Amino acid sequence: MNNKEIRVRFAPSPTGYLHIGGLRTALYNYLFAKNQKGKFILRIEDTDRNRYVEGAVDNLISTLNWAGLQADEGPKSGGDYGPYLQSERLDIYNEHIKKLIDNKKAYYCFCTQERLTELRKRQKEEGLQTKYDKHCLSLSKEEIDQKLNDNTPYVIRLNIEPNNEISFNDIIRGEVTFNTGIIDDQVLIKSDGFPTYHFANVVDDHLMKITHVIRGEEWISSTPKHVLLYDYFNWERPLFAHLPLLLNPDKSKLSKRQGDVAVEDYMGKGYLKGALINFIALLGWNAGDDKEFYTMDELINAFSLERVNKAGAVFNLEKLDWLNAEHLRNTPNGEILIMLKNEISKSKYSSFECTDEYLLLIIEAMKERVSFVKEYIEKCPYFFEPPTEYDEKVVKKRWKEDSHDLLKIFSQRIEQLVNPTKEDYEKTLKNFCEEKEIGLGKLIHPLRLALSGVGIGPGIFDLIFILGKEESLKRIDKALEQIK
Ligand code: GLU
Repeated sequence: MNNKEIRVRFAPSPTGYLHIGGLRTALYNYLFAKNQKGKFILRIEDTDRNRYVEGAVDNLISTLNWAGLQADEGPKSGGDYGPYLQSERLDIYNEHIKKLIDNKKAYYCFCTQERLTELRKRQKEEGLQTKYDKHCLSLSKEEIDQKLNDNTPYVIRLNIEPNNEISFNDIIRGEVTFNTGIIDDQVLIKSDGFPTYHFANVVDDHLMKITHVIRGEEWISSTPKHVLLYDYFNWERPLFAHLPLLLNPDKSKLSKRQGDVAVEDYMGKGYLKGALINFIALLGWNAGDDKEFYTMDELINAFSLERVNKAGAVFNLEKLDWLNAEHLRNTPNGEILIMLKNEISKSKYSSFECTDEYLLLIIEAMKERVSFVKEYIEKCPYFFEPPTEYDEKVVKKRWKEDSHDLLKIFSQRIEQLVNPTKEDYEKTLKNFCEEKEIGLGKLIHPLRLALSGVGIGPGIFDLIFILGKEESLKRIDKALEQIK
């Protein structure tokens, strides 16, 4: 039995925003770790100094935290295997590259850019694969020392023996085999002294005791190089799981051109984190049944790498919207209240004054009719201001010859009620219609129009009760004046 603690990592390069595919990778790592009672580690891969973006790391961490994916170890959380920022680990890479050089598994390369360009050109012309020709591998120790003394710029390359087969077992894809003949002598240390992704990634995964490398399919072609590094260092390899690509509905690779790809965009549009997480979890995984609604805890319980698909996963926004509505319906009213107040403060009703009770009544009455918190305002603005106009189509259809008189007499009845409850309104309206021998619709439709200006909305008794007696009477009076 293997009692080793499961340790996985999300290892983003901070580019300024979190890609939706990155969130999926982070989520699968998180779910797997929590399911296995293991650790979820955040490591920032920031060794590409050309891509440095101010504030990107903080932004990334706050987005992950928003989504509920707190790291057990990472730049902010700390841990026994830090630092968790690669740019703070340069000494570690230097120490490790020396070991590879001593074992002839890596070598200095002093070739100039001109020579490399020339080499590529020649290989292309001859129809050969473009790769480094190991020119510098034959330098003697003295030649190398001399060049180093002269401060000749260099990189350090992985010394790959050609024509070997390398295989690794991918949890999702099964056995994957590459021939080393097609792999270039990868640069491990760049001329600026920083490690490349490949080198830093492997050294850190080993030192951070990562047991499972779970990442996007785009990295699978890098894995043979990584596997070689493990073997060259004589380190135990982690297990690999490469997640399927995310696709646009037309099956092309998910890209900015066809919609939003930054998690921040979805946050800004008002998606609930529970809905986004639920949606992302289903992009490439299912539990083997047709269950679609999941809370985070349910996902943690149900998740397994074995049930991740190989085929690309299509990003279907309609499903996300549907899930958002489902999650909103499952959110306690008290939580919706906080979000709604926040939405109101950003809306044109920011100075609208009301009690929490008033908003809670709206929330309850509209719950089945909204998919987003902001729709508690957009779909029923009449709770925040009296109608300024009356939907013409509804007037035409619902405002009959006798509507004016009926509504007028009915409003007098309402006026006599003292602190009416919802039930009082209902009783009054029903008695009135009975007495006048008319169908309820005869009164309900004109009343709704008068109160809200439109033909649809919550139940009529909710509507009148929430607005309250004074406000409702004012609105009826105004409608009686304006609707002809
Ligand atoms: N830094 C890589 C990235 O940006 C990490 C890939 C991996 O997980 O190995 O996605």
